[in-house]
Amino acid sequence: MKYFLAIIGGGPAGYTAAEKASKAGKDVILFEQNAVGGTCLNVGCIPTKSLLYGAKQYYNATHAQKYGVTAENVSFDFAAMQKRKTIVVRKLVAGIKQRLNNEHCTLVTGFAKVISRTDELVTIECNGETYEAENLMICTGSTNFVPPIPGIKDNPAVWDSTDALNATELPKSIIIVGGGVIGMEFATLYHELGVPVTVIEALPSILPNLDPEVVAVLADKYKKAGINLLTETRVESIDGGTVNVKSQITNDQLQISAERILVSVGRRANLNGLEALNDIELNRGAIVIDDFCKTNLPNVYACGDVTGKIMLAHVASRQAEVAVGRMLKVIPLQRIAYNAIPSVVYTNPEIASVGITEAQAESMSIPVEVRRLPMTFSGRFMAENEGETGLCKMIIDAKNHSVLGVHMIGNPCSEFVSAASFAVRMGYTTTEFEQVVFPHPTVSEILHEIL
Ligand code: NAD
Repeated sequence: MKYFLAIIGGGPAGYTAAEKASKAGKDVILFEQNAVGGTCLNVGCIPTKSLLYGAKQYYNATHAQKYGVTAENVSFDFAAMQKRKTIVVRKLVAGIKQRLNNEHCTLVTGFAKVISRTDELVTIECNGETYEAENLMICTGSTNFVPPIPGIKDNPAVWDSTDALNATELPKSIIIVGGGVIGMEFATLYHELGVPVTVIEALPSILPNLDPEVVAVLADKYKKAGINLLTETRVESIDGGTVNVKSQITNDQLQISAERILVSVGRRANLNGLEALNDIELNRGAIVIDDFCKTNLPNVYACGDVTGKIMLAHVASRQAEVAVGRMLKVIPLQRIAYNAIPSVVYTNPEIASVGITEAQAESMSIPVEVRRLPMTFSGRFMAENEGETGLCKMIIDAKNHSVLGVHMIGNPCSEFVSAASFAVRMGYTTTEFEQVVFPHPTVSEILHEIL
């Protein structure tokens, strides 16, 4: 049988594409070596959020005096948190399998390898069988990057995020190398469960890609809470549980020890099994795609982390929708609005942002007006966030007054950043956005207050 579409990788990109194309009546074959759902569902977004929620419950219970509540003998059971996380993941994986269960979709569990490709036919081998398809979609995702630091390889004290998620016991102490999104979410988890945490970040700030004023609110809170944040610090070598670091400001050398060292310094596109596509265009190890997720090869598409665009699950699934639309020649063809992709960091408080930052506007020579408002301008925020101030920043085009970016810190901004995404995506001016009514009392009203 010749399939219309072969998809390698069953993460958010792959399973979305498989569902869309098969439900449109096209014969699709989806190859996944592990469980469907990919990194996000199995060893990323969902398991971390399940554990973070447990940690937040414990933290809130032990910090409830400010709301007039005292709880004694509060304890947690990490194994039970892990068990719940596994059940959440299992249910969601089953849900995805259900969505793929139709007569036009075939799911094959195994490692798929491209054998050959012409403009008419792609041949793939998996579990000793060969499969043929007219089109190929590469959704192979990314893997943890292991930096070339002496002493990192084969060191049992060193974890990546998957090791941390699978651990049945909490570490007694942890050093996190890399203060990016993964690093700061794990720092939050361990800190809220009482584990001493040190974060080592090479750049001048943690979360260096986000708005610095928003990040400063988090950094101040975490430092006061006792998280050891070492910025502008480089790891020279690792020896067991000891990390040798050097300050990039003073050149001072320091040894820090912990039971575990979590290394989270970024991820790289996964090109395993694609060696036969030796004429596919790459840029810094990621597959180059056009606005419709097509590669330089006529019948080959790529979506998700493997494209190195923005490594977020919701980007991957949107790319898949766009690619399938292009393949099925849906009119009008849609492009992805990369300028309006929301992103969230699940620290406590949460950070949520969409669109350009003030610094990006400056580097693009776009004159902007910047508005700032503490989240305490929202009554609901005041009622529920004792001791916090939060921050909402809006970046507005100084010429046409359209909303170009919104950057926030304060719970639960992840839940309403999509309203800001909508404004950025639709190119709303402040006057147009002002006409949107937000329910009272909600923290989302900050988006109205700031206008
Ligand atoms: P990242 O790029 O977000 O952060 C890596 C950090 O490590 C950077 O701050 C970098 O400066 C630092 N670094 C690099 N080398 C270093 C070294 N030798 N010593 C000290 N610091 C060093 O990468 P990540 O945190 O590994 O996350 C990977 C991807 O997964 C990202 O694209 C991220 O957006 C995505 N992700 C998203 C979410 C979410 O949406 N909530 C959650 C987790 C991961």
